[in-house]
Amino acid sequence: MRWTVPSTSFSGREAAAGGVTPGYQAEFEPAMRAALAEAIRAVSPRAEVPVGAVVLDRAATIIGRAHNMREADADPTAHAEIVAIRQAAREIGGWRLAGCTLVATLEPCTMCAGAIIAARMERLVYGAPDPGAGAAGSLWDVLRDRRLGHRVEVIGGVLAGECGALLRDFFAQRRPERA
Ligand SMILES: [Zn+2]
Repeated sequence: MRWTVPSTSFSGREAAAGGVTPGYQAEFEPAMRAALAEAIRAVSPRAEVPVGAVVLDRAATIIGRAHNMREADADPTAHAEIVAIRQAAREIGGWRLAGCTLVATLEPCTMCAGAIIAARMERLVYGAPDPGAGAAGSLWDVLRDRRLGHRVEVIGGVLAGECGALLRDFFAQRRPERA
């Protein structure tokens, strides 16, 4: 199963040379909208915390898309990022997701950052920062830790307002529960 994200073509663009420009960041908005659509799907049937994620291959084709499945699967590891990465690995037929981009509506936790490293992914794009548990620059910066052999390009804040509002609305309607 494959989904194409129209009007996203970041192949060949590299931020390494001179930092990330707003235009470069905006190229990931269509993919973030796909991740947001996943996050919204998490809320209605099972009251999952609304986090969504997609994985893009080198050609910006979506090869994995998922929302948080922790309640549905009774699985503490079923974060949207992990489920999407597993889908992408099945699609590719191997564990190594070199050149791939993970797009997540919320800054990943330590577990998910570890999975990004383990999969040798090239890039993380996230929406809302997570000051309480974020491992891509907020509490920790696992993906750019020089002690690890693999480093990941990190682009934060893509559609951050919409991604964060979804979470705030969710928790405002429920008793706060620690993630
Ligand atoms: Zn996580």
